[in-house]
Formats: sequence, C-alpha cells, structure tokens
Amino acid sequence: VDENPPYTMLLEAAKTFMVKPGKGDCVVYWMRMGDLRVSDNRALSLASDQAQTNGVPLVVLFTISPQDYQAHDRAARRIDFVLRNLKCIQSKLDELNIPLHVETIDVRRQMPQRVMTFLADVNSKHLFANYEYEVDELRRDIILYALAKEANVRFELHHNRCIVEPGVIFTAQGKSPAVFSPYFKKWAPLVNHDSSYVEDAPAPKPNEQDVREKEPLAAMFKEMVPDFVDGFKLEADDKKKMEECWPAGEDAALEVLARFLKTKSRSTQRGDVNPLEEGAQESAKDSRVKQYHQERDHVDADTTSRLSPYLSAGVLSIRECVRAGRKMSKTADNVDTSRDSGVGRWNQELAWRDFYTNILVAFPRVSMGRPYLEKYSDVVWEDAVDADGNDTEAVKAWKEGRTGYPIVDAGMRTLNEMGWMHNRLRMTTAMFLTKHLMIDWRVGEKYFQERLIDGDLASNNGGWQWSASTGVDPCPYFRIFNPYSQSEKADPSGDYIRQMVPELKSLKGKQIHHPSVDSADALGYARPIVEHTSARNRALRRFKDVGEV
Ligand code: FAD
Repeated sequence: VDENPPYTMLLEAAKTFMVKPGKGDCVVYWMRMGDLRVSDNRALSLASDQAQTNGVPLVVLFTISPQDYQAHDRAARRIDFVLRNLKCIQSKLDELNIPLHVETIDVRRQMPQRVMTFLADVNSKHLFANYEYEVDELRRDIILYALAKEANVRFELHHNRCIVEPGVIFTAQGKSPAVFSPYFKKWAPLVNHDSSYVEDAPAPKPNEQDVREKEPLAAMFKEMVPDFVDGFKLEADDKKKMEECWPAGEDAALEVLARFLKTKSRSTQRGDVNPLEEGAQESAKDSRVKQYHQERDHVDADTTSRLSPYLSAGVLSIRECVRAGRKMSKTADNVDTSRDSGVGRWNQELAWRDFYTNILVAFPRVSMGRPYLEKYSDVVWEDAVDADGNDTEAVKAWKEGRTGYPIVDAGMRTLNEMGWMHNRLRMTTAMFLTKHLMIDWRVGEKYFQERLIDGDLASNNGGWQWSASTGVDPCPYFRIFNPYSQSEKADPSGDYIRQMVPELKSLKGKQIHHPSVDSADALGYARPIVEHTSARNRALRRFKDVGEV
C-alpha cells in the first residue's frame, strides 16, 4: 500500500526541475502557515545567505488561502493565531529592513501560478520555502517546480518541521516503521550522533540596501497584515479568550518554554489558564519538565508544556525544545531519551510528533479518510447526522460536553472554551466517541480540527486513529478506556471537573467522577447517554465482526 507517492514525486521533481539561474533583483522566502518564526528557520536562513551571496535583498512572501483552510477544516482560531503571529513577524522583519508581502489567493488551484507571478513582479530567480508534508501541499509544490523551471527560477525546499524529517528512518526491510518503539529506537541514536538534527539555523541578516525607497519592494513596507480572513473571523469574545490563553509571537513561545523548564506545576488549573500568568513557583529540581514522566497524565494541573499551538504553527522551533532539554540533563551532550526521566519522556513525546509526520508522508491515505488498518474500514458506525443532515443527539451531546460522563464533558468544554485539550483528555474523549457512541472517528477528527488552535493534520489524524484502533500502533480495540476510572486517575481531586462542569461543583469524593442519577437530576446535569458496559460490549462486537480477536 502507499509508501510515499506524492512525496517521492516531489523529491523527483526537485531533482529534475532544478536550474541555475542568474541573480535576479531579490531572493524570495515563501513563509508557510507552519513556519511562523524568524529565528531557527532553515529556509529563511538559507534564503538570507543566498541574498547575501547574490548581493540582492531578501523578500518574504506569505499567502492566505481561504479555500485551503476550508478544505482542511482549519479552525478560525488557528487562522486568527496565524495572523497574530504574522504581525509579530512583520515587526521583526521591519527591524531587519526585510519587506513582507501578504497576498490572499481566493482560488487555491491558482496558488503556484500566483507565486510565479509574484516572482516575476519582483524579478526574483530564487525561491526558498520549508516543506509542507500534507498531500495537497506536496502536489502544489510539484506543479510549482515545473513552473519554476519554465521561468528559469530556482526553487529550494528545506526540512524545518520535524527533528528527524520524514523518509529517513526505515525498518530492516526498508519500510517506514508503523510502530512507535522501533521508530524511536532509531530516532534516538540518530539525534544523538548527528548534531545537525538539532542545530540552530542562523538568523537572517538585515537587508543592507535601502529597499524602503525602491519600488516595488518599498510598497510592501506599507502593507498591513489583515486582522481576519473572510469566513474565518472570530467572535470578539472568542478572540479575546484566545489572545489571553495563547499570546502570539516567538518571545511569548520562548517564555512558555522557559516556564515549563523552570517552574512547578500549579494544581487545579482551569483549562483556560494563560501559560504566562504570574504566580508559578520556580524550582529547578521539581520543575514541570523534571516531573513530566510522573505527572504528565494529570489533568488537574498544568503538568505539560502547552506548547502545541506554538509548535504546530512553527512559532517555536522543535529543535529549540530538544536543545533546551539537553541543557538540563545530566548527560550534557546527549539527548535524553529515557522513559524514567522528565526530559527523556518529554523528548519521546516530541518524537511522536515526528513519527506521525513520517506516517503522513509514508501512508498519505490516512489523511484522506482511510484507516491505516484497512480491515477496519468496514466497522459499522452509528449515524452521525439525522435525516435533515444535522448532528444526531449523541454527537451534539459529545460536542457540547453533555454526555453525562463528567471527565468527557470537562474535556470537551475545555476544547470549546480554549481550543486546546490535555493529551489524556483527547484520548478519553476520542475513545468515548468512537467506542461508547460508535461514531466514526472521521467525525471527531473533523470537529477537533475545527476547534483546536493547535490543529495539526498528522498528529490529529494519528491521535484519532490511535483512539479508534484503526491506526498505526493503535490502542487495540478491546482496550476500551473506562471513563470513570480514567477520571479518577487523571483528576484524582476532581477539582478539574468541578471547574469545567460547574453543575457538579458541590459533589464530594468519588461521586464527582460518577454521579448517581439522582444527584445528576438534582443538579441539572445530564444522565449518561449510554451505559458503559453495554456500550463497551457493542464496540467489542462491532470490531470483532470485521477484525480478529
Ligand atoms: P506536551 O506533553 O508538553 O508535549 C510536547 C509536544 O510534543 C506537544 O506540544 C506536541 O507537539 C508533541 N506531542 C505530545 N504528545 C504527542 C502525541 N501523542 N502525538 C503527537 N505529538 C505529540 N497534537 C497536536 O499538536 N495537534 C493536534 O491536532 C493533535 N490532535 C490530537 C488528537 C487526539 C485524538 C489525540 C489523542 C492527540 C492529539 N494531539 C495533537 C497530540 C497531543 O494530545 C498534543 O500534542 C498535546 O496534548 C499538546 O499539549 P502539550 O503541548 O502540553 O504537550
């Protein structure tokens, strides 16, 4: 089954269509929506070198593509985060005398041609960008290579999203590993023995020429990054909330990282806490990263880094995360990969991100609505929409956090409020939808993508297929999370539920995890929409029918 076609074709195109052009009047770096930083950005850094070599200025292009956002179910929150970060980038580039040109392209198919028109307008013969590994984006870049050759333009792509880029790690049989542990066994020594995987890319140099005076570049300094994209405008309250929860900019991202490395976790965090809020206690010994291997599954405290919005938008370099962890570990030159240390365990999670990106590239069908394990394509799912095309009551209850299972409802309300959820809750809510409600994982994947500020095709798809037992290295279908015991483990005090599901705040002890029907009725809380044991048995039957035990 598909090992890589679009990616392989792109690598081929890069070889076939590479040209050696003249200098042109400038070098262009095309910043994409997962690249939103100036520091430690490989394509930007190399574009700057090329501009210096050619003695011409560097120009940054950013394209807004509403049809792409629609096609990929992008959350308005994510688009708003992109624009907020782009404004920070614009001021950083301004200081370097580098113009930023932002162009909205309404018809997505025209993207390659429009980029070529821009290059012709500024008379550039050099285009740099970082790889985007999603199928549509790979196909777009294949077309762009051919157009670039026709116009005698050199187009260069660089790897910037992962620590180890896709297509490097293989099994002994030359296949892409579809299980995490053998992948990680190869990942760890690679990262340890080849420092280029985590090296910092040098910052771009300022443009020396006075491009502010020279058309057409001068005009770009007057361009403003738009406040919103049509069709993706946030309601004012939601926008305010997102700005509070997820401050934009590379400096904010570095500060969130620094706090993870040096402050203790704070208990009973409401899901919507600003990661930069004052008050966290500093402690080198018991910092969140140092305790990560022990505390990471607790949802009643800010035990994890909350860096995913910054990593998925590329505001923070994943290499910077590894370098920062390395400085803290005892084995100074080594990347700690042990399960028994906080930094080591955190590095493993960073490697999961690489792993799922590798899967997306090797098996692109997973992102095109196919299960990785084809035998589960015939699982019988319950209807997700009614005869009028509206969500069924069960789907509505799940989305709105009214299932009658407190931990599931707390998780879904956190997602709706702040555009983020703890990993344990993502697994619990995803498994609840796919196993307890027997709703197709694609319904949940889409909803997450529409609500998450950190929505990332590879990780979201990987997480959903893991939970639905259809993916690579999945949770076996017969290991169905019990939401009540998950709740006791993840939120032992129950305080997280009390905060996110205020109807239940008067409940004491274990009742908070599993309220009786009488207390639910008295408190105006939903009764469970399905009964745990019978729902579990139904899921086991449905999976067993199409797979094997
Ligand atoms: P930390 O625990 O501090 O981890 C650090 C970083 O490692 C994360 O920011 C993330 O980049 C990476 N990471 C951690 N766990 C995973 C994982 N299991 N898979 C891939 N990368 C990981 N992550 C996303 O970034 N975007 C998504 O759209 C997304 N959707 C998910 C959907 C489901 C159903 C599941 C089960 C998981 C999903 N994840 C997704 C993975 C994970 O839940 C989040 O990355 C994590 O909760 C983010 O919180 P953090 O930054 O505090 O993580």
